[in-house]
Amino acid sequence: MEIVFATHNKNKLKEVAALLPNIKLLSLDAIGCTEDIPETADTLEGNAKIKADYVSNTYGYACFADDTGLLVDALNGAPGVYSARYAGEHGNAKENMNLLLKNLTDKSSRNAHFKTVICLNLNNKQHFFDGTCEGEILTNKQGEKGFGYDPIFKPKGYNISFAEMDMIEKGKISHRGLAVQKLTSFLKSL
Ligand code: IMP
Repeated sequence: MEIVFATHNKNKLKEVAALLPNIKLLSLDAIGCTEDIPETADTLEGNAKIKADYVSNTYGYACFADDTGLLVDALNGAPGVYSARYAGEHGNAKENMNLLLKNLTDKSSRNAHFKTVICLNLNNKQHFFDGTCEGEILTNKQGEKGFGYDPIFKPKGYNISFAEMDMIEKGKISHRGLAVQKLTSFLKSL
C-alpha cells in the first residue's frame, strides 16, 4: 500500500517510516508538493484535516497528516496548537524552547503533555487517530537527538529527555508513536 505522509519535516518522516515497515510511505517532496500547506485551524484535528485534505484533493493520493502540540498545565495548555510558532513565525526550535523555559521560571508545576492527532484520507473516507505522552518540562536542555522541544521534555517514568532517546525508543512511548500505532492497527484490519 502506498500512502503519502503530508509533512516536509524529515525527522518526522523518518520516525513514522520506522513505525510503518509494511507501507510504502511517500513524502510530500516525492509527489512534487513543495509548497507549505497553511495550518489555519485552531485545533490539532482541524490542522491535520486541512493538510490531509489538501494533499488528497490536489494530488489524488491516499494521505495522512498529523498535527502535534505541547500542552503545558501551568500555561493553560499553551503553546498547544501554536507550538511550532510559539516564539514567532520563523518556527525556530531553540527560540521556542527558550521562551517556554522563561515563561515557566516562576511556576511550581512543570507538568505537560504532547498530543498528536492524525487524519487519514483513504478510499473516500476520513479517519482520526490520536496519541498522548505525559511528562514534564526540564529546567535545562538535555540531549542532542530528535527535534522541536525534545531537549526540554522528560516523559513520565524516565529520567532522560526525548532528545537523549534513540528514535525507536522514543517511538514506543511518544504521542506520535502511539497515534501511529493506532493508524497501523487500522490499516492492518482492512
Ligand atoms: P507538528 O504539528 O508535528 O509540525 O508539530 C508542531 C510543533 O510541535 C513542532 O514544530 C515542534 O516544535 C513540536 N513537536 C512536534 N512533535 C514533537 C516531538 O516529537 N518532539 C518535540 N517537539 C515536537
